[in-house]
Amino acid sequence: MSLTYSLGDLTIHRVIEQETSFVPALEMLPGLTGEVLAENRAWMREAKALDQQDVLLLCFQSYVVKTPHHTILIDSCIGNDKPRPQRPKWNMKTDDTYLRALNAAGFSVDDIDFVMCTHLHVDHVGWNTRLENGRWVPTFPKAHYIFAKQEFDHWSAQNAKAEIPPFADSVLPVVEAGRHELVGNDHAIGDHVRILPTPGHTPGHVAFTMGRGKDDAVFSGDLMHSPLQTHYPELSIKFDVDPDAAAKTRRSFLERYCDSDTLCCTAHFPSPSVGKIRRKGNGFVCVAV
Ligand SMILES: [Zn+2]
Repeated sequence: MSLTYSLGDLTIHRVIEQETSFVPALEMLPGLTGEVLAENRAWMREAKALDQQDVLLLCFQSYVVKTPHHTILIDSCIGNDKPRPQRPKWNMKTDDTYLRALNAAGFSVDDIDFVMCTHLHVDHVGWNTRLENGRWVPTFPKAHYIFAKQEFDHWSAQNAKAEIPPFADSVLPVVEAGRHELVGNDHAIGDHVRILPTPGHTPGHVAFTMGRGKDDAVFSGDLMHSPLQTHYPELSIKFDVDPDAAAKTRRSFLERYCDSDTLCCTAHFPSPSVGKIRRKGNGFVCVAV
């Protein structure tokens, strides 16, 4: 399986931390009925999106994009040494899978110019920081970390009420180190990197579009989690903060890119995780390239 894609003057690398069973489909997607699951079970299993117990299989990964000017890491996964007692597979991890995958793609932590987070959930900020002598420090010491201001403000307010561990250990230390930049939705980096607001999963969730003057690739973050949601865009997951907004965002995103040449790079679809959006019935499908 190739983990690298070349498009226009971009090179895109997948850096995988985990690909594993997550939450039962019927629990994760509250609007999913047993009947619809049964109709889709065969292709979902074939696609390794569903296991034998009807638990959704998800990939947890970063994308590293090389533009002619910069090396950009999108979403920093789960991280090590972080107390996540609700999720045994994420709790106090010490494995070197992620950093080895980064190296295998040809990068060291010093090579990353920008870290961009689609949103500030636990599995998208983890490697923002690493533990050094008992302190959280930026994992990518030379990077500017780009956070959407609306998203940052939301979690900042939540964290003020009661500590949100991934915000406290994986976002605030970056701010304290002075490596962050809070940006509006009109932010761009050169003529290759743009922001597409995609609210719903979280209030300030954004997608990133890349390519010189046109969207060669789009990084969709958590606006969808399972390929089942391309067929049924109205199915929101139980972690969507605003399920109705998430459903609307999903359909308009899929409509925007269907029948285009843009490579859709999802955060969590099972490998290969990327594809082109095509229409299928009243919904869509993400077709591997
Ligand atoms: Zn996620």
